[in-house]
Amino acid sequence: KSGFVALIGRPNVGKSTLMNYLIGQKVAIMSDKPQTTRNQIRGVLTNEEGQIVFLDTPGIHKPQSRLGEWLVKTAQNTLAEVDLVLFLVDAGEGIGAGDRYIMENLKGVRTPVFLVVNKIDQVHPDKLFPIIDEYRKIHDFTEIVPISALKGNNTNTLTNVIFEHL
Ligand code: GDP
Ligand code: MG
Repeated sequence: KSGFVALIGRPNVGKSTLMNYLIGQKVAIMSDKPQTTRNQIRGVLTNEEGQIVFLDTPGIHKPQSRLGEWLVKTAQNTLAEVDLVLFLVDAGEGIGAGDRYIMENLKGVRTPVFLVVNKIDQVHPDKLFPIIDEYRKIHDFTEIVPISALKGNNTNTLTNVIFEHL
């Protein structure tokens, strides 16, 4: 099996951390400064199941400049061209304006979208279900996978579920 998987989500949700963890190499730029990932960074995961090419997309956010508009367009085109989209959110922060804006952009996309609830190491398990419910009310996700990209919690499950859909 093989396919292209795009990582989207507002700045700092952990897209680069997840890609680095999954492919086991530091290729995406990690920084506390938002928007460091200007161009698409690709990472390849190969195991006995097959191969996944991850695309760490430039952030989708309300464009405030011509460059911003171009970046958003690029990200939207990517979503249509990949096999699967991973929409990352921060379990500790609830739905913000940035998350809502991205979900607006997902409405017209026919590619399957997984909700990946990251940073579960930072929230009490009891708080996780209410957060997930909030997102489910807004969008019909193909799969919902809670993980910690930093600690590697449940990341194997994520990889397996991705392969199931390729
Ligand atoms: P991106 O902007 O979406 O690419 O986010 P980054 O991957 O650069 O991560 C932003 C910050 O969140 C960094 O300081 C990461 O170490 C931290 N981070 C990412 N994933 C997790 C996680 O699962 N748990 C915790 N506690 N921190 C995380
Ligand atoms: Mg990044």
